[in-house]
Amino acid sequence: NLTFDPARFRADFPILSEPLDQGVQLAYLDNAATTQKPRAVIEASDNYYRHANANVHRAIHALSQRATRQYEGARDRLVNFINARSRAEVVYTRGTTDGINLVAQCYARPRLQAGDEILVTELEHHSNIVPWQMVAEQTGAKVIVVPVEDDGSITLEAFKAKLSDRTAIAAFAHVSNALGTVLPVNEMVAAAHDAGAVTLIDGAQAVAHMPVDVQALDVDFYVFSGHKLFGPTGIGVLYGKEALLDAMPPYQGGGDMIETVSFEGTTWNELPYKFEAGTPNIAGAAAFGAAIEYLEGVDLDAVATHEHRLLERATAGMSAIDGLRIIGTAPGKAATISFVMDGVHAHDIGTLLDESGVAIRTGHHCAMPLMTRFGVPATARASFAAYNDDSDVDALIKGLESVQRIFG
Ligand code: PMP
Repeated sequence: NLTFDPARFRADFPILSEPLDQGVQLAYLDNAATTQKPRAVIEASDNYYRHANANVHRAIHALSQRATRQYEGARDRLVNFINARSRAEVVYTRGTTDGINLVAQCYARPRLQAGDEILVTELEHHSNIVPWQMVAEQTGAKVIVVPVEDDGSITLEAFKAKLSDRTAIAAFAHVSNALGTVLPVNEMVAAAHDAGAVTLIDGAQAVAHMPVDVQALDVDFYVFSGHKLFGPTGIGVLYGKEALLDAMPPYQGGGDMIETVSFEGTTWNELPYKFEAGTPNIAGAAAFGAAIEYLEGVDLDAVATHEHRLLERATAGMSAIDGLRIIGTAPGKAATISFVMDGVHAHDIGTLLDESGVAIRTGHHCAMPLMTRFGVPATARASFAAYNDDSDVDALIKGLESVQRIFG
């Protein structure tokens, strides 16, 4: 019995009702960059340092056991949240970027041969481009790019056309951070598997907005960040199928990732610890666990419906503004709107909106190839989350109308 009451959800995020220095009310529409935190997450972090602070896995004393319970308890919640098969498949990372680099260096690097292909799409975040370029450089493999359509979509046909018998890995976003496009990930995973490739989904922009089931997706690796899911920065998840993770060498060497160490040879700890060298972000895990616990009662399908309604309201309002052009209009897109305005720099849009408390993002959104594809140096981007409401949309539209009056 999952529920979602947008007004109650919003009330759980203290920062959203705090007046800004400008004396105006915050309309936070930069959720693709990072999300705000509910009271439960803030308190879990505070609670950890007040009542549980100790190192994990290493001592038998009471606090260490408490810290370990919070750290591992959060992992259990994450296993359940994405429907992984077991704890072995859920590796803590620093975030999405770290997870992709781990797969590039530990899965791809030992396996890739010169001429092998790594397939990505044109709309990827730099975090899902650069690690592959680095491993291509190291191995002689090639990065192949699936082109994006004029409406910002990635079609299954375009993806299939770039698959070949040399494709070793296909890595693609679940949802585009720059345009909001939702990719046909189920079909892409199946097609990549048919071609004999291993798959990685960058789920950074998906997990807070829709239910994600890694077994239903049948994807090999799925990565995301805590901070885009109402949790803290500095922690994220790499999900990987156990057989794949098991066959991979460790990422970094150090404490916690070993079984035994000697100068004759060192052996690795079992999964997932093999990939978690050093004292981890324990407070982050505890707070991430609180975010997941908070979301356990929330109907993410209802969240998607709510965000879709906000998207429609915002799109309608923006379409009525002279000289404003939305980039990315793929059917079924998520509630992220990239746009440009004739004669106005994206940066000026952001600055003017900020004066009225409307927080949006301007720039290339870590997707420079995509900006090049659409022939713009930058866009302004409004991105919605579950706690946004009509008042946020209306503040955005009002702000854009005054941008248009001043510059238009
Ligand atoms: N991929 C996508 C699609 C993203 O939106 C982001 C964050 N903007 C990242 C990767 C990188 O995430 P992080 O900075 O948390 O590692």
